[in-house]
Amino acid sequence: MASAPKVIIVGGGAAGFFAAIACAETNPAARVTIYEATAHPLAKVRVSGGGRCNVTHACFDPRELVKRYPRGGRELLGPFHRWQPRDTADWFARRGVELKTEADGRMFPVTDRSQTIVDCLQNAAVAAGVEIVTSLGVRSVLGRPPPRADAPGALRPPPLFALTLTDGSAVNCDRLLLATGGNRSSAGLTIAEKLGHAIEPPVPSLFTFHVDDPRVDGISGLSVGNVAATVRGTKLREDGPLLVTHWGLSGPAILKLSAWGARELAAVNYEFTLGVNFAPPHTRESLGRELAALRASHPRKQLGTWCPLDLPLRLWEKLLAAARIAPDTQWAGVSQEALATLVAQIVAAEFAVAGKSMNKEEFVTCGGVRLREIDFKTMESRLCPGLYFAGEVLDIDGVTGGFNFQAAWTTGWLAGRAMAGLA
Ligand SMILES: Cc1cc2nc3c(=O)[nH]c(=O)nc-3n(C[C@H](O)[C@H](O)[C@H](O)COP(=O)(O)OP(=O)(O)OC[C@H]3O[C@@H](n4cnc5c(N)ncnc54)[C@H](O)[C@@H]3O)c2cc1C
Repeated sequence: MASAPKVIIVGGGAAGFFAAIACAETNPAARVTIYEATAHPLAKVRVSGGGRCNVTHACFDPRELVKRYPRGGRELLGPFHRWQPRDTADWFARRGVELKTEADGRMFPVTDRSQTIVDCLQNAAVAAGVEIVTSLGVRSVLGRPPPRADAPGALRPPPLFALTLTDGSAVNCDRLLLATGGNRSSAGLTIAEKLGHAIEPPVPSLFTFHVDDPRVDGISGLSVGNVAATVRGTKLREDGPLLVTHWGLSGPAILKLSAWGARELAAVNYEFTLGVNFAPPHTRESLGRELAALRASHPRKQLGTWCPLDLPLRLWEKLLAAARIAPDTQWAGVSQEALATLVAQIVAAEFAVAGKSMNKEEFVTCGGVRLREIDFKTMESRLCPGLYFAGEVLDIDGVTGGFNFQAAWTTGWLAGRAMAGLA
């Protein structure tokens, strides 16, 4: 194995930079070059987390961490034992970037600026001697068969990969990392396919649901602390906050459903029935009993001015309207039948979803390079020696909360160390 490998990294995103730095720092003799197709490396890091960059998540048990990945969780268990959110936080801290943890576990730079993370990665790459070439992409790659170990005469094996760049020029390398991200139009997946890899078809993940319904009309911006959301006819169910948007429904509960259901929901063209329990863990029976007891204890209170549940009053008014109960009705005047209708609106509301909208805060791709063709100790291809993968180009994606970057840091670090040839 050459002690000064020539390493090319295709894609200057989170995974590509982390791999490049790990490789160059592990083996200072390695010649590491990042080719980034656009003029702006780390563009997604810059826009991430609403401009704050949700770097990772304060979940330090690999067995818990893997539960946040609809695809790739099983494969990431071993890698997370080697590089997990604590390592990520330490890595940035060693370079002068402190992370803070918010109440829900998301970790951000204390500056609340993604530029801090961009600057840190760029400075670390330059300090480690990584060459960063921008506005020059990799168009295609020709893989050469690896030299036989007993090949006579050759002092140094020929480079394994011949690359054609987007300006028509050619370069070659001993080790190649594809870190081209989840963009379906990037050449990364085509290159992987040409080198023998199967691709799980890419579909979007982390999107919001398009709902046109009087119950959420005119109350955009309103959020509910905790709901249980389900997709009728499937086993999909997620708990968490719900946010009403101009187009329908969003928030962690919806985004998690979109991630776990990415394939099922794509298959029905994003047209399905969403079930929402606005007062979990209540069931029809338990809430029916509770509201009947309130009716008995507060007969003169008006429904429209007093919501007995932890719900925003404006949503409560909408649910009353859906149950055809006038807001000035006193509790004593609510019939058993009307009460049952109101209970159904609260614990078993149904919304017709007609399409999806983009979640501007964070979105990722479900699908990518098939995982069983990768050795997760090194991120090297099992089919094409010398070829490595990291980040979203793989069929790995997490729910929202810093998990997608964590997958990029972990797989990038493993690939970088392995490509250095000394790990
Ligand atoms: C708006 C938004 C906000 C997000 N916020 C968060 C967040 O806060 N926390 C979180 O964990 N995740 C977040 N994500 C997800 C996260 O950004 C991605 O999972 C992560 O960036 C993946 O890193 P990557 O390096 O694999 O791919 P990318 O960041 O997509 O980088 C791939 C790079 O490869 C380049 N490239 C592609 N093809 C070629 C080629 N042929 N030649 C050369 N270069 C090429 C691309 O131009 C790109 O720069 C967000 C995503 C979006 C869209």
